[in-house]
Amino acid sequence: MHSAVERFFRVRMPPAPSLEELLQFYEQGWLSQGYESPEDEARYKEYGKEILKRFWEIHAPDFRLPIALERSFYIDIEGIKLRGFIDRVDKLDSGGLSIIDYKTSQELFTTDYLENDLQLTIYQMAAEQTWNLPVEKLTLYHLRSNTACTCLPRGKERIDQARQLVLDVAENINRGNFPATEHEFCPCDFPEHCPYYRHLHIKTEEQPDRQEPLPGIAAADAVEKYAEVQSQIKELEAQLEDIKQSIIDYSQSEGLNRVYGSKNEITYKLMERTGFSGDEVKAVLEPEGLWEKVLGLDQSLVKKLMADKATPAEIKKKLETLKRITSSYPQLRLRKTGSEEE
Ligand code: SF4
Repeated sequence: MHSAVERFFRVRMPPAPSLEELLQFYEQGWLSQGYESPEDEARYKEYGKEILKRFWEIHAPDFRLPIALERSFYIDIEGIKLRGFIDRVDKLDSGGLSIIDYKTSQELFTTDYLENDLQLTIYQMAAEQTWNLPVEKLTLYHLRSNTACTCLPRGKERIDQARQLVLDVAENINRGNFPATEHEFCPCDFPEHCPYYRHLHIKTEEQPDRQEPLPGIAAADAVEKYAEVQSQIKELEAQLEDIKQSIIDYSQSEGLNRVYGSKNEITYKLMERTGFSGDEVKAVLEPEGLWEKVLGLDQSLVKKLMADKATPAEIKKKLETLKRITSSYPQLRLRKTGSEEE
């Protein structure tokens, strides 16, 4: 798609290539690898053709030659050299430059993304340094929807921030401090150097020690064992929850506080949580100047106030009478019959 669009603009002079020529560029640049099936490939190819037809309808009528296409650049930021390629640069009637970068990504770009895209900022720096002309427009061109998402150029402050970011990143790279950050486009072209993918590339015979994180268990087996045990734990937890609930139901229906097995016994208790009503506590604490201490009835602060030695005993007593049960939950305690141990 990229190369077809590039060749569309790479003519010596207007007019624009015909639609047939554009589709021919597309055919010539098509790569068949990476599709799940021939049907999948045919579907994508057709989809690409539709996009290009629309692209041609939009751009052929007022076709203008760009001043640069797939232009490579080097910029030097205090000795740090950055190299890249800009898809397209147009010269505007005003004399300024317009930078266009083509994207085949799925989603359209949000304003926020556009305003903060570092790539466009660096392109602006490179274009202004290369042609000594001001950049007036920055565009991410969303090919799937044929939408030009355009914003104004970055101001001096943003350019300075980008320069500083480049310097910081370069310094961290120099120090060997560049942790991998996995994202949706991983793996990249360097999986053998990446801590997320390197393990797939380690050859057992070259680094046998890395293959045994636990004595006697190879790393790959340990991963599978981990998954197996975790799934067993989940299954056991679900079983435990079912058994627990049936013991609670049985204790409640029979009015029992303890249920005995052959070797173990389980004590059932309905635990209660207590709390306070805001109005009642306020009525007690406000006249004493203590309401502020519990900040709009923070339950834990009321309990803290009651435990505080400095709180008058009379107040503590009053608060105690205001305690209400706010919720209850069943608790089971297991112990071996005849032992103290729980
Ligand atoms: S696969 Fe590449 S891009 Fe992804 S985290 Fe690893 S090194 Fe970074």
